[in-house]
Amino acid sequence: MALEQPPQPRMKIAVLTSGGDSAGMNAVVRAIVKGGILKNCETWIVREGYEGLVRGNADAEAPTSVAMPPAVDVKVRDPAFVEHLRFGDGELLRDGTGDHPGGRTLKGRYIVRVGWDDVRGWFAEGGTLIGTARSTAFRTPEGRLKAAYNLIKEGIDALAVCGGDGSLTGADVFRAEWPSLLETLRAQDKITDEQLARHGHLKIVGLVGSIDNDMSMTDLTIGAPTALHRICEAIDNIHSTAISHSRAFVLEVMGRHCGWLALLAGVSSGADFIFIPERPPQADPWEDQMCEAIHRHRAIGKRKTIVIVAEGAHDSHLNPIHASYVKDVLTDRLGLDTRVTTLGHIQRGGRPCASDRILPTLQGLEAVDALLEATPDKPSYMIGMRENRVTRVPLMEAVAMTQSVTQAIKDKDFEKAMSLRDPEFHESLEGFFATSSLMNEPLLPPEKRIRLAIMHMGAPAGGMNAATRAAVRYCLRQGHHPIAISNGFRGLLDDNLMELSWLGVDNWMVRGGSELGTNRTLPDVDLGAVASKFQQYGIQALMVIGGFEAFNALKILEDGRKYYPAFHIPLVQIPATISNNVPMTEYSLGSDTSLNALVDACDAIKQSASASRNRVFVVETQGGMCGYIATMGALAVGASIVYTPEVGIDLNTLRADVKFLKIRYGLDIKGKSEGRIVLRSEKSSSIYTTDVITKVLIEEGGSLFDARSASLGHTLQGGIPSPTDRAYAVRLSLKSMAFIEQQHELLQKQPAKSRQASPDSAAVITVQSSTIKWVPVQEMVAHADMKNRRGKTTWWGKNKELVEVLVARPQLIGN
Ligand code: ATP
Repeated sequence: MALEQPPQPRMKIAVLTSGGDSAGMNAVVRAIVKGGILKNCETWIVREGYEGLVRGNADAEAPTSVAMPPAVDVKVRDPAFVEHLRFGDGELLRDGTGDHPGGRTLKGRYIVRVGWDDVRGWFAEGGTLIGTARSTAFRTPEGRLKAAYNLIKEGIDALAVCGGDGSLTGADVFRAEWPSLLETLRAQDKITDEQLARHGHLKIVGLVGSIDNDMSMTDLTIGAPTALHRICEAIDNIHSTAISHSRAFVLEVMGRHCGWLALLAGVSSGADFIFIPERPPQADPWEDQMCEAIHRHRAIGKRKTIVIVAEGAHDSHLNPIHASYVKDVLTDRLGLDTRVTTLGHIQRGGRPCASDRILPTLQGLEAVDALLEATPDKPSYMIGMRENRVTRVPLMEAVAMTQSVTQAIKDKDFEKAMSLRDPEFHESLEGFFATSSLMNEPLLPPEKRIRLAIMHMGAPAGGMNAATRAAVRYCLRQGHHPIAISNGFRGLLDDNLMELSWLGVDNWMVRGGSELGTNRTLPDVDLGAVASKFQQYGIQALMVIGGFEAFNALKILEDGRKYYPAFHIPLVQIPATISNNVPMTEYSLGSDTSLNALVDACDAIKQSASASRNRVFVVETQGGMCGYIATMGALAVGASIVYTPEVGIDLNTLRADVKFLKIRYGLDIKGKSEGRIVLRSEKSSSIYTTDVITKVLIEEGGSLFDARSASLGHTLQGGIPSPTDRAYAVRLSLKSMAFIEQQHELLQKQPAKSRQASPDSAAVITVQSSTIKWVPVQEMVAHADMKNRRGKTTWWGKNKELVEVLVARPQLIGN
């Protein structure tokens, strides 16, 4: 086919990964390559981190990569796009050899042009396909001079670096030195005046790839969530053997200067004791503190003990605390049969979890924008995350703050080290203490204690049990009285209530589904009877963990306050639903577990396509009238098309989709097609069902592709909750308890007989942008589409467009 000459690229962008590898680095590379091409840039990768920059391309040794033509002569809307499609090197990187039987090779080539299809499907793979290294040469001015020369030779002056704080420091050093490096190269006659003038400013952007989550000014580093997954999987597996033999396990996890992994693993797995560098044990000697805590747990019948030690853990005098020593203490002092498990590199490995696909994708796209907007007078930026938002922060400020944590620890100024950690770290630590330690005496005096009822509502969601466990443990620590209601309001009316003990909820962190039992019965089934049950059991506060029904139930109870004094108590909802359809919150417990289940299933489905390469899978997801799970899932698996109830499906859409798939398969190299995924939310259309769409695709695909369907159904609800859902469950549950205590105290100031709870005391805990906010249930009603059981606006809706952008639909068929 005749290819039109593309316009001059706006910029040549190179991306490298450096330092220790982490899951999600491939997603970064993929997003930068795709984002760069979409913004009319040429995209390059640098193999083996900075070492590859220093080595550059030995022209004599290797042929340059060649643009590879598509299989069929296809007409696309933007023919210039086809120029960027592929250069063939992605395949060489993917098979790990760097060599191809056909004679193409990467040997001697470290800075390589890559195209759209070269990075296809990369984000399902762990580690970094472009290689990483620790380069001593780049630490020297001579090494950096070579690196500058190699970049200029290829006409590149925009660099995205994904690595830890060392790598990002290296990037900033390089940028600062760049003008003088170019002067030297000019003086040595290695570059021309024109090159000197054209490449006078090195544009740099940093992305934090590090499993330790040790970078300041970002909530989450790329790879940390996957590492946490690996750790929690290991601990979950250890649970059964620990309980069987009544053993103690000491686990060493990564984290030289940062205890995030140990802390979050401790919270998510319900560990008994943790050691982290930022906050060594307060007692001296710490051995007494640890043994006392664990002895208390054992004395009430706990059969397993889990202690987590960060590799950089130490006592308050900076004496290292090693797992083997902790084991000796537990064996000698408490007589426990204790084993050590060092997780080591297992933590780095494996397929990236859903958030290590979605977040690096969003961050990679932001990095391209940061490069395009970079000017010599602006600082280089680091792309980070704040709760649920991608952020840009000055790179060197973030590095400096990270280094000051390390320095504060060295100076034994642990308070300062903690103060430099983000709020999530603090809250998780408080959460760990509140849910892991068994107190001899409750903290609150009797008059401040509350009878709290806890209930699950709606469909089961991962994290419901973890949130309940956290509330129960917090209650017992404070002296409150937790009452669990089984089977929702139906259960309350049937007097199906139970006491939960500290030990009874011990394993609930890891349990999926709903231990309390859940259904959709609303309190207006018999509001008067519900009020009388509240009175009968002396309920002074209610925590409902559930989805849209829970929100509805809270609204009914708040409305019912007009008639029933029993409802003048704090009423709170913790959103928990895989559909994530509760208005005004960006996050519901269970949605992360569900996304991960979807990613696992789609990876397996795609894998099955490796035998019959040109197959489209139409995968049906749950989600009711809310397309969240389908849309975010589509982003996480790189789906080609996503159908949601919000947008619906019509004949025009289907026609365009068929055209898109035909063009896309036509652009594949013959025999090199891969399976493609179409995600269809179950209620997207009552006519164009999964079956109908599959049949249409079979019929229309002709010789280009065929189609099959798969329904994920309830697999999306079940399974072990993800670490994110568990950790959030603890955070949101404890924040809810603080809210309940505060509202209860306010109410106690009023005379008992005429107590009037304010509408604000019936509220839902929400995550909005980068903050956690309480929204009164009546305010939420204004934002709810009660008929379709979802919010009136969707923060994630724009991601449907992003799914389409990431498969180049606008370039291939237009909008
Ligand atoms: P991790 O958190 O996995 O250790 P990191 O990026 O901090 O990742 P480092 O080994 O510290 O890992 O740095 C990676 C590479 O970055 C180094 O091998 C070196 O090439 C480069 N680098 C680090 N610090 C500097 C510096 N001050 N000047 C120049 N280059 C540096």
